[in-house]
Amino acid sequence: MQQVNSTPIVSVKNVFKHFGEGETRVDALKDVSLDILPGEVVALLGPSGSGKTTLLNVIGCILEPSSGYVHLDNEVVYNNRWLRNDLRRLRLDKIGFIFQFHNLLPFLNATDNVALVLELAGKDSTFARNRAIELLHYLEVGHRKAAMPAQLSGGEAQRVAIARALANSPRIILADEPTAALDSKRAGIVMDLLRKLASEQNACIIAVTHDEKIFDRFDQIFHLRDGRLDGQV
Ligand code: ADP
Ligand code: MG
Repeated sequence: MQQVNSTPIVSVKNVFKHFGEGETRVDALKDVSLDILPGEVVALLGPSGSGKTTLLNVIGCILEPSSGYVHLDNEVVYNNRWLRNDLRRLRLDKIGFIFQFHNLLPFLNATDNVALVLELAGKDSTFARNRAIELLHYLEVGHRKAAMPAQLSGGEAQRVAIARALANSPRIILADEPTAALDSKRAGIVMDLLRKLASEQNACIIAVTHDEKIFDRFDQIFHLRDGRLDGQV
């Protein structure tokens, strides 16, 4: 764990989120507060329905909380309301998402899947392709750069998806069950890559996981139960 900089890169304070009203109301997050430092790799644990994805989506500025405070990478982004009106830009600049199933676009090859994110962020296509290929090599799937997603193994596809999440050098990487679809050897390799990345890029990684085989690879573990954080390990 990196402890040089003790200013949190992600700070969530007193966040509440409910869906619906009246009899259909669900309180998905109840007074959640947490701090994550640059370089940290943390896990969100909890039973199904406990609010893990909701919390990840709030941190990722995909979902508006009902109230509270969210600070990301030197910027207060939410204080009982969004403080930015260009949330898409904020996500492109600061946040990388990795999903359980790789989510690659089936009609683009590995390189183009990664390059697309850079082009969306306004980079020219030559730069985007070169950076995409460099990232694929960094994740040890450079030899698969021309393959279509259907031709990749599960582990290869997940590494391409990680390359895509890293393309814009985000300081905050959010992963919903990143290793669930992988065998334990591949899951370990993916987690080691995420750790290497967090320390080299001074980024933080927040991963939802049930995967006991990778628990030893986290700096902090947050337990959610019924929308509440109940103690940290
Ligand atoms: P987890 O990821 O831990 O399984 P979620 O964050 O997806 O849990 O869900 C937390 C609670 O919020 C659950 O009771 C779920 O049914 C509810 N919920 C999540 N998203 C919505 C939504 N868009 N509309 C209504 N209820 C939702
Ligand atoms: Mg979930």
